[in-house]
Formats: sequence, structure tokens, C-alpha cells
Amino acid sequence: MAKLRVYMAFVTNLDAFIDLASYEILFAVCTECGRAKQIDRYGLAKKYGVYSPINVIRPKLFCKACDRRTVSVVGRANGPRD
Ligand SMILES: [Zn+2]
Repeated sequence: MAKLRVYMAFVTNLDAFIDLASYEILFAVCTECGRAKQIDRYGLAKKYGVYSPINVIRPKLFCKACDRRTVSVVGRANGPRD
């Protein structure tokens, strides 16, 4: 059993939704204001397909703080485990 550790990393162009572990979460970072927000990986995987690269969603993300499409970085991190 691996030791629990907190990590976060940026999604690469090779990462698809299916590559995410069950405990991982996805978040988007706005490059304008620095706002980070968790995004719905399951909803997105359903919409775009589990084999789609995660980065396909990058141009579609919208920052509510800036009120425009400035979000361009997507990362993965480990979420809370049961
Ligand atoms: Zn913003």
C-alpha cells in the first residue's frame, strides 16, 4: 500500500480522462487572476469521452471571476479518500 501523499501536477497532452485514478480530482487555474477551481471530471469525461485528452477542455473553460475564457491550465491532484 503506497503511503498517502499530497501531490498536484499539470495535465499533459497525453493524459486522458481514463488515466485518472479514482481518487484524483481535476482543477482549472485561471492564468489571469490565479483562481483555481475543481472541475467535474466525471461530467466532462461523460461529455467528451473517457479516452479524450483532458486538455481538449482547456479552450472551453470559463473563469467566472474574470467573466471570460482565460482559464488555460488544468491540473490533477489527489482528492480526499474514504
Ligand atoms: Zn480569472
